[in-house]
Amino acid sequence: MRRRRAVRSAYDRVVVVGAGRAGVAAAEELRRAGFRGEVRVIGDEPGAPYDRPACSKGLLTGHRRPADVRMPVLDGADITWHLGRRAVHLDPDDRVVSTDTGERFRYDGLVIASGARAALPRGWPVGEAGLHTLRTIADAWALRGALRDAQRVVVIGAGLTGCEVASAIRTLARDCVLVDSMPYVLANAVGETVGRMVTREVARDGVQLRLGRRVTGLNRRRRGWLVELDDGDEVLADLVVTTTGERPDVDWLDGTGIDISDGVRCDESLRVLGVEGVVAAGTVARWPNLRYSHRPRRCGHWIAALEQGRAAAHTLLAGEREIPPVTLVPRFWSDQYGLRVQVCGELPSYAEVMVTEMRPGRRDAARAGVLVGYHDEGRLVGLVAVNAPHAFTSITRSMLAAPVTLAAPAPVAVTATAPVPAPAVGTARPAARRLAEAS
Ligand SMILES: Cc1cc2nc3c(=O)[nH]c(=O)nc-3n(C[C@H](O)[C@H](O)[C@H](O)COP(=O)(O)OP(=O)(O)OC[C@H]3O[C@@H](n4cnc5c(N)ncnc54)[C@H](O)[C@@H]3O)c2cc1C
Repeated sequence: MRRRRAVRSAYDRVVVVGAGRAGVAAAEELRRAGFRGEVRVIGDEPGAPYDRPACSKGLLTGHRRPADVRMPVLDGADITWHLGRRAVHLDPDDRVVSTDTGERFRYDGLVIASGARAALPRGWPVGEAGLHTLRTIADAWALRGALRDAQRVVVIGAGLTGCEVASAIRTLARDCVLVDSMPYVLANAVGETVGRMVTREVARDGVQLRLGRRVTGLNRRRRGWLVELDDGDEVLADLVVTTTGERPDVDWLDGTGIDISDGVRCDESLRVLGVEGVVAAGTVARWPNLRYSHRPRRCGHWIAALEQGRAAAHTLLAGEREIPPVTLVPRFWSDQYGLRVQVCGELPSYAEVMVTEMRPGRRDAARAGVLVGYHDEGRLVGLVAVNAPHAFTSITRSMLAAPVTLAAPAPVAVTATAPVPAPAVGTARPAARRLAEAS
């Protein structure tokens, strides 16, 4: 690490909660920026930080082992690691984080980077043998072990993780049934045009698709599971993998007064609202990305976690000083079925979509290379590429280099003068949601 001039900061001790991409990036960036005080990282996973995206790719197929996916950490960064313990409480007045090991960590500055955990629909038999989720390296290793003896696997959820898991299962020559309530795969991630193209490739690879279907029951059988679908179909499987989304890991912030409805609410520079000396970064942070809008949202991608971690470190060091808003461009990638899927920017449903085939006329357009641009009033706001990495990189470069125009604030709502009707009695949704609704 090159020596930097020590930066003047109001802080002597920074604690980072979460040793994922965002937390590690924040810790490293504090050092890069010349912070000379203590940097402590608390992480609840027992091992060294690693690249989480590998959990649904090389780790499952056996092309990579845990040692291959360790996250490189800045040499000589002088970070103190407190791994294998979970932050269970934050006292923002005394500035103390307590862990499940009974330790208390005092801080002047705190980075919240606790990411997200797998969200299972309520009522599902979590923890039972043969029912897997996939979030951590331990989950990936457990699933990899279980796949050795499995012949048929049901994957619930055809988002990025679900499709990658199904692809890995086929690489291992196992039967795979992929269930999702949408009519095509990757619906939220890449939009309809590319989603339908990838769906064809998934089917061609031998994955049995049950799209537009919901899971209504999961029943244990002597060996494996019987998965019931809403069209009355039943699928027997040795293993079930659920990839039905994630929820921010914020339980440890209960009672702090911080707004933790769908992640930690931050201002545009990632300062956590309502508490002093605290920033948030990564999947857990909900902030208004003024490049797009004033509405605070979370971004669950690896590159965003890296960029937010770095930005949060600078915001923390700036103390009360004004600092530019964090206006990153969301981008992510996925590897599946021999396809390299890459996305940059936003894919609004109202945008005009333009498709460019790299080799026009080929029936397998996705495999041959395709670019799909999303245009808003003539401006390219989003790009999806399949097997077109060079074109993607050069177009993305210009998207990133374009000057940032901050979104205009939403018009102030006119206060309603009409009386607001009281909610009708007896129309509340039942507390226990049915399996069918949740899948
Ligand atoms: C299987 C899988 C595949 C993925 N593939 C891709 C991909 O191909 N491309 C892409 O762009 N993105 C991918 N992602 C998303 C990407 O991994 C995340 O966006 C990124 O990891 C977010 O980083 P983070 O640091 O915000 O959170 P996380 O990676 O979730 O890290 C947070 C860490 O904090 C720990 N933690 C939580 N609560 C506490 C606590 N109270 N105390 C101590 N520690 C705590 C967690 O255990 C975790 O180790 C994938 C995600 C998964 C699960």
